[in-house]
Amino acid sequence: MKNNDLEHAVFTEIDEEFICENCGKKVPKLGYSCRNHCPYCLYSKHVDVNPGDRQEDCHGLLKPIGLDINKKGYVIIFKCEKCGQIRRNKAAEDDDMDKIIKLSVKDD
Ligand SMILES: [Zn+2]
Ligand SMILES: [Zn+2]
Repeated sequence: MKNNDLEHAVFTEIDEEFICENCGKKVPKLGYSCRNHCPYCLYSKHVDVNPGDRQEDCHGLLKPIGLDINKKGYVIIFKCEKCGQIRRNKAAEDDDMDKIIKLSVKDD
């Protein structure tokens, strides 16, 4: 029996699972908050004007370029590869911690 369902890669922009446009991995929904970036490669998508509002129509890839550590925890700094805007998103509980730490080291 064949199970060839991978064609149905639907990209949704609310807290649902989606396929990351950067690394191609399937990202499960977050559950406790709005999923706004990929936990594997940390890339995000430029879809919000204000966090979670999905009002932005740029839709460029947001590349993680840095890290801020504040009282609330880790905040990833992104730069949009399309329009160049800088965005910030709180890190999620299941983000790849190694990648997050590397962002703070900047040894490119
Ligand atoms: Zn990814
Ligand atoms: Zn953009």
